[in-house]
Amino acid sequence: MEIKYLQSGGLITNYYCTCSCRHCLYRCGPHWPKNYISATVAGIAFETAIRLGCPSLHIGGGEPFLNFRALEEVLNVARSKGIEVEYIETNASWCIDEDRVRERLEKLLSLGVTTLLISISPFHLERVPLVRTYTLLRACKNTGMGIFPWSQEFLNDFSRLNPKRCYTLEELEEIFGPGYIKNIPNRYWIHPGGRALELYFQEGFTLEQLLELFPYGCEELTNTSHFHMDLYGNYVPGLCSGLAISVADLGHQLPQGRYPILNLLSEKGIKGLFEMACSMGFKAKRRSYGSKCLLCLEIRSFLVEKKGVFHELAPLEFYYQ
Ligand code: SF4
Ligand code: SF4
Repeated sequence: MEIKYLQSGGLITNYYCTCSCRHCLYRCGPHWPKNYISATVAGIAFETAIRLGCPSLHIGGGEPFLNFRALEEVLNVARSKGIEVEYIETNASWCIDEDRVRERLEKLLSLGVTTLLISISPFHLERVPLVRTYTLLRACKNTGMGIFPWSQEFLNDFSRLNPKRCYTLEELEEIFGPGYIKNIPNRYWIHPGGRALELYFQEGFTLEQLLELFPYGCEELTNTSHFHMDLYGNYVPGLCSGLAISVADLGHQLPQGRYPILNLLSEKGIKGLFEMACSMGFKAKRRSYGSKCLLCLEIRSFLVEKKGVFHELAPLEFYYQ
């Protein structure tokens, strides 16, 4: 397997987050270590992106604003390497004092950031009251910072709620009617990975059906149309959270000895991984799987728990969340 070039992607500055969204691809949350990307790792990620054909990146997390000084440093490095920052993602949880928010936005504008992607969804509303989102939206308007509300549709839904409090998914289901939570994937892109697998992709196929449906390698792994690189110097192939390629190994064939799992998934897909895991004592836990990625995660969790450290199964916290 080889990642030859990079199309479009982002930098994960940290995995710790004020939220613990039930759809989060990276299973982020407050319990992750408070580690933030260093200037050196960010610089290597930017240089690699440019070398492989990607001159711009977005910045996300976790919640990138939880260490604003470190975020400023990342932006300085981006400038020095000549990479454009398309936008920074934020859940607005830090937007309490409007003057302070404005100050930070002005700082970002001076560092060349022109857009924030503001996360707005039922999942975020479990931990972020709307009043903070409104504060950020107002501050963006007053400073000239561009916004990308993701998504506006939910902001419209929430206009009748009390902006000062949070709401659980169960409360939202009561307010908006049965099926409101189940219908979210029809209104909002939810990738079958991380926590979303347990929320939305549990039922569908028997194990036998699933293995028959996907007898070939996972082409997703070499898709670079929405890639991420993280603070630990890893590249996440194909949005398959919990899988990791060292950034230094991008642009080359991945050595079989160091990447047995990724090479297997790339060549033989979930069927190959399942057969390998069975030979190591794996037994499937469910009667039904809504996605091959749910089985993949179950197998990878088994490998981490029973067979120790594989550096391509990282970060370990992802498996222990
Ligand atoms: S989806 Fe975003 S805001 Fe929610 S836990 Fe994940 S990183 Fe945090
Ligand atoms: S089965 Fe695994 S490797 Fe394949 S796309 Fe899903 S998560 Fe990625």
